[in-house]
Amino acid sequence: AQQPGGGGYCVFQPSMLAREERVQALLAAMDAATLEAEFSMVYQPICDLRSGALHGVEALMRWHSPAFGPVSPAEFIPLAERSERISQLGALAFRKVAADVAQWQAQGLLPEDFTAHVNVSVRQAMNVHFFEQVRDIALSAGVAPPRITLELTESLLIDDAHHLQAQFRQLSAYGFGLCLDDFGTGYSSLSTLHNYDFDCVKLDRSFILRVTEEGRASSLLPAIIGIARSQQMHCVAEGVETEEQAELLRAMGCEFVQGYLFARPMEAQALVAWMRREPD
Ligand code: C2E
Ligand code: CA
Ligand code: CA
Ligand code: CA
Repeated sequence: AQQPGGGGYCVFQPSMLAREERVQALLAAMDAATLEAEFSMVYQPICDLRSGALHGVEALMRWHSPAFGPVSPAEFIPLAERSERISQLGALAFRKVAADVAQWQAQGLLPEDFTAHVNVSVRQAMNVHFFEQVRDIALSAGVAPPRITLELTESLLIDDAHHLQAQFRQLSAYGFGLCLDDFGTGYSSLSTLHNYDFDCVKLDRSFILRVTEEGRASSLLPAIIGIARSQQMHCVAEGVETEEQAELLRAMGCEFVQGYLFARPMEAQALVAWMRREPD
């Protein structure tokens, strides 16, 4: 057997095999899955930090696998991104969100500026038909483009920037919202903001977790919020769990908030109930 600490290879451990076996089994289960039946969307409200009023939702995907039970998107999305499966799941997310938004709209539940955020993987956006696909889904559901905001993770924007920028410029020109997710954790922050037409940034939860501490992380936040506002971008703080965090973010001029303190992700039906009782 190989000795540990040698020439840069991995030392075999039984836990690695278990992990790799799970990965292979999940990939096979995803291949075999009837997407419409096993994958669904839940919605987490994004609220105005001052008034508490509903501003939008983030759509988050859930997988209820017959074999594995609920699987976290933190686990299955990276696996789906290994193949074109991510494009099918991504299209499914847009279809479900567009259908739900159309229904809430018909029920008169939506505030005027309401927008539903949908997470987009870079591999999905690299598809040459991505713009047409998103446009056609919105069109056939009868949903106006500003009702949908595409959310992109900052750390992924460095790959093949030109093609992506062209796609997102087209989407933005057509009227869809663009939001930069996990802002502050990537590498290209300021130049990225210039190359894309973002109308919104999301402050990563890692910043929010440290907002109540003294020191660098908390002193960075007002600067980041200031940059966003100077560029006329909305600012959403993600993962807010305590009243203390909300108070500090409010004082720093952050506009919107998403987190367990306000609401957890919920199924469309539960969201409707939440929206109906929301004003009081
Ligand atoms: P994300 O885009 O950063 O989504 C925010 C995550 O934070 C969600 O986890 C949400 O449930 C969680 N969260 C929200 N508020 C709080 C809070 O107050 N405290 C804590 N501890 N967590 C909070 P979730 O739903 O497990 O999703 C994980 C990741 O999976 C997402 O991170 C996103 O990167 C990815 N994902 C989810 N749905 C999709 C999808 O439809 N398409 C793609 N491409 N990625 C998705
Ligand atoms: Ca997101
Ligand atoms: Ca995020
Ligand atoms: Ca995050």
